[in-house]
Amino acid sequence: MLVLHNQTFIDRDEAVVDIEDRGYQFGDGVYEVIRYYDGQWFLLDDHLDRLQYSLNEAEIDFDVQVNNVKARLNDLIEHNHIQDGGVYLQITRGVAPRNHPYPDKQAPTLIAYPLNLKRPLDDQQNGIHTITAKDFRWLRCDIKSLNLLGNVMTKQKALNAGASEAIFYRDEIHVTEGSSTNVFIVRDGTLVTHPADHYILNGITRRYLLNLADKLNIPYQIEVFSLNTLKQADEVFVTSTSAEIKPVVSIDDKKIGDGTPGTITNTLLEHYFDDINITKLPEDV
Ligand code: PMP
Repeated sequence: MLVLHNQTFIDRDEAVVDIEDRGYQFGDGVYEVIRYYDGQWFLLDDHLDRLQYSLNEAEIDFDVQVNNVKARLNDLIEHNHIQDGGVYLQITRGVAPRNHPYPDKQAPTLIAYPLNLKRPLDDQQNGIHTITAKDFRWLRCDIKSLNLLGNVMTKQKALNAGASEAIFYRDEIHVTEGSSTNVFIVRDGTLVTHPADHYILNGITRRYLLNLADKLNIPYQIEVFSLNTLKQADEVFVTSTSAEIKPVVSIDDKKIGDGTPGTITNTLLEHYFDDINITKLPEDV
């Protein structure tokens, strides 16, 4: 496997982290996971726009366009002969003697390498089991930061409980998102999902879904909902680049609907794969 390191390609074995890279020591960096289906990027431009957003918000001195990230990612796909799968890309604030303040001169480190992402067809057919968990993360979840300790601890909690995803809530009346996904409910034929604010990551798949709902004339509301509303919903599903759309069939051992994937969820899933040639969403939701 060839790995992109700044502007050059190196073998997997040579791709090692400097002990003083701030990403390694402080989680001082941002990342993206991008899908590549059947020889084409999926929503690449939206991922690159969000990457720039995360960089700007984290005040990491790196310009995605100036550094030709798109062209380098195309080279990465070509060098590794990828037809289906994805790419992991991260940019840290770079290497500097360990000290909290930003270094005077930032020299960010970029690495990107292929991910062997498969379509999660079993979960899509059967639906997934979930738990709810207190959202104890920081309040800038809109930045796709490397600091994922709260997310990984909570994902493990779900696995330990025999589930595969945890749905976060700040308090009883405020469900936010999943440990690695965005959450949607269907209530009386209307989709509902959390506003894109500092409490959640504005998922590219979330935005894709809202555009798809527009196209299919499925009404949606962007608003905060409670734990009670979540558990009483007709349908629930989660979205992410790697999960795509996964129906949720139980939450904390309580069945959602009749305990099988819902009709609207299945309709959205059917359309997902028709759209794999999209590189840019028409509008920002
Ligand atoms: N929220 C969190 C916390 C995530 O980790 C992810 C996936 N990275 C998402 C939402 C979904 O984002 P996207 O659709 O852009 O993959």
